[in-house]
Amino acid sequence: MRRTVLTTRKSNAKEKKIRNADARTNGNSAGTKIGKGTSSERELEAKKLFVPGSTNGRAVKVESQAGAVAKPSPTKRRPRKRAVRYISVERELALEKDILKQSPPTSPPKLTRLKIGMHTSTAGGVEKAAERAYRLGCNALQIFSSSPRQWRPVEPGRPQCEELKRLRLKYGIAPMAIHTSYLVNLCSTTGEFLTKSIVAFRGEMERAIALGAEYLVLHPGSFRGWTREEGLKCAAESIARASDGLNPAAHGLKILIENTAGAEFSLGGSFEQVAELLERLRRVVPVGACIDTCHTHVAGYDIVTDEGFERTLKELNDTVGLGQVAVWHCNDAKAERGSKVDRHEHIGRGKIGVDAFKRLLNDHRVQHAAFIAETPLDEAGDDVRNVEMLKSLVSN
Ligand SMILES: [Zn+2]
Ligand SMILES: [Zn+2]
Repeated sequence: MRRTVLTTRKSNAKEKKIRNADARTNGNSAGTKIGKGTSSERELEAKKLFVPGSTNGRAVKVESQAGAVAKPSPTKRRPRKRAVRYISVERELALEKDILKQSPPTSPPKLTRLKIGMHTSTAGGVEKAAERAYRLGCNALQIFSSSPRQWRPVEPGRPQCEELKRLRLKYGIAPMAIHTSYLVNLCSTTGEFLTKSIVAFRGEMERAIALGAEYLVLHPGSFRGWTREEGLKCAAESIARASDGLNPAAHGLKILIENTAGAEFSLGGSFEQVAELLERLRRVVPVGACIDTCHTHVAGYDIVTDEGFERTLKELNDTVGLGQVAVWHCNDAKAERGSKVDRHEHIGRGKIGVDAFKRLLNDHRVQHAAFIAETPLDEAGDDVRNVEMLKSLVSN
């Protein structure tokens, strides 16, 4: 997902922030990559895109991405001393593509026998995601519970949590997965960064519990500077530390370890690594797996040919166990198999192709799972089209 949101206190700090955002994005190589080209190219692009404080309409001030607890009251607003968020031109356009801007459906959406959903924006308040998911025709949902690229989270208020739960119940949207922030790296070799990540992940768990999410999806992180074995041990210990005393099981929350695109030093590029982490965590927290079709493909697994698909699913079953896969991220891939380049594409328009998704969605061994797209929103209606595409592939 290409999404760029920055916070700035003073507009003269914008360039530094942009550079930081780039550095952070590159910090966890397991995270979804944004921007194209070299970092200086991206920086240039960012400079062109971000015009905080401008009046030319290129930057828009927003309350928050996930909904703030304390809204600045109109009478007491002191913009210079507050953290103010700006969104890029790209995001502004995305807002124009917002399904909530269109007239609501007159009848409930047609659903399939499967749980099919979309990673959905929380712009305007976290509870808005449920309304969006409903209008997109989803019966499953994934969100970020706060901005995925900021250390300081925006905590959703209790009324927002309750409203989200009410809407999900009303529309029958379950499960709901929360995707962890891209900044979190639970196997960092830098003590300070690791501590920050553990605190952030604990916050993710607390918000997931408050919002009533069934799943919290986590990229295991980058173990650069350590052996893979040390990285696995560190990730498991970090999750244990972060969840100390929270009792996610009592709240019906499961941590899902997501397989990654297999970039160097990123944990989780193979099913074995995901399985190993699950094995270590099983005694600590309720765990399962989230398998991303794009990551699987670019990590080198064949899910495109008939035999390849069978072999890959057998391999997944022999390691992680197909029953452990609670969520499939359904993303087509822009890049070739084995390229390790994580760029999501619309379903059926990438290197994976529509047949593989059809095979997956109708495989009797994975019917218990939820299928959630994290496809790009390039043009208005892309989100609806991807959900409909997935639904059209499910046979009765
Ligand atoms: Zn990805
Ligand atoms: Zn994913």
